[in-house]
Amino acid sequence: MEVQACAKLNLTLDVLGKRPDGYHDLRMIMQSIDLSDRLTLEENGGAGLRVRTNLHFLPNNEKNLAAQAALRYWEARGLPSRGLNITIDKHIPVCAGMAGGSSDAAAVLRALNAVEREPLSPVRLAEVGERVGSDVPYCVLGGTALAEGRGEILTPLPPLPQCWVALCKPEFSISTPALFARIDSVRLRCRPDTQGALAALEAGDLAGVARRMYNVFEDALPDHRRTRVNDVKNLLIQSGALGASMSGTGPTVFGLFDSEECARQARERLLDLGGEVFLARTV
Ligand code: ATP
Repeated sequence: MEVQACAKLNLTLDVLGKRPDGYHDLRMIMQSIDLSDRLTLEENGGAGLRVRTNLHFLPNNEKNLAAQAALRYWEARGLPSRGLNITIDKHIPVCAGMAGGSSDAAAVLRALNAVEREPLSPVRLAEVGERVGSDVPYCVLGGTALAEGRGEILTPLPPLPQCWVALCKPEFSISTPALFARIDSVRLRCRPDTQGALAALEAGDLAGVARRMYNVFEDALPDHRRTRVNDVKNLLIQSGALGASMSGTGPTVFGLFDSEECARQARERLLDLGGEVFLARTV
């Protein structure tokens, strides 16, 4: 079976506070895009769970989130593990704030459940996904959604009007645990207008959503990283983006465009800035 695993973007990301259990309460509007990995699942006649990817540094064993999803799926169904080869053709950049691994995991859950003729409801499938990672429930659902709690409390939203997305993953990586640690000590200069963005989604107002986008983790970046992120945002806005923001804990920065031509021009200009550059559409 072949399945597609879409990347996600955070249209908004707010951190509401730290909880007694050490996790943070989040409030985020999530959006799927067609930048995606392709997964092939094949039964291998009981030869165990094997993962192969085109990126040599990703785990090829049960540490891979796609394999973990298969194990959690069989566990939830009370079934023994089966022989399965999972081949992942990665296109979503790794450690980029676009939930690539979580999306692969969600794709495996959806595929196994489809082969078995949907014995688990979408809600149950999302619960199984939560045991693999906090972003997996959203990736099972996809589309436009509000994610709260650690990201597992989901409310489907009216779809973002279709648009073009230009993205740039700058050449550095950001440690997610380090950024969560910093967010408690920095003074947040700006918060996303989540309520306003939700109202704009209800009204089908793309520009209204785009101009309210913001990610509080931008304030927690070390100065030189924040400068780089701001350079990309400025370039996107100058190229005609309706709004621009960082996704997740970064470093990917994206802009939303209602014009394909402007999005393509933005992509060309981003190439001069360096890093990995993509053009995508919302799903
Ligand atoms: P998020 O937006 O959910 O924080 P991310 O984009 O920052 O995710 P991922 O690309 O999902 O990060 O990968 C995070 C880690 O998961 C990496 O250390 C990677 O080695 C590991 N990993 C395990 N399985 C996969 C997979 N199938 N694809 C990508 N990374 C994987």
